[in-house]
Amino acid sequence: MTTEDIPTCPECGQPMKAGGLVLSKRVDDGQRICRSLWRCADRHTWWGWVDRPEEGLEMCPVPELFHLPIAALPCLPTRRNVGR
Ligand SMILES: [Zn+2]
Repeated sequence: MTTEDIPTCPECGQPMKAGGLVLSKRVDDGQRICRSLWRCADRHTWWGWVDRPEEGLEMCPVPELFHLPIAALPCLPTRRNVGR
């Protein structure tokens, strides 16, 4: 997992900020896996499986669920200060 690459929003091309991790159940294999959440300045919200970076990001269908403080999210192996 690399933290060097800052993804850009596929929708508008702006750099995105990490929005934390969300534990999800994956339909594919029934596993509970974290997704990393990314947001751009226009509030497009994207996420991707942490263990399958090669699959890239998908648009998050339920961004309103994640207007939470990062500390409230259940799956947090690392916490990064994005500095505001
Ligand atoms: Zn965007």
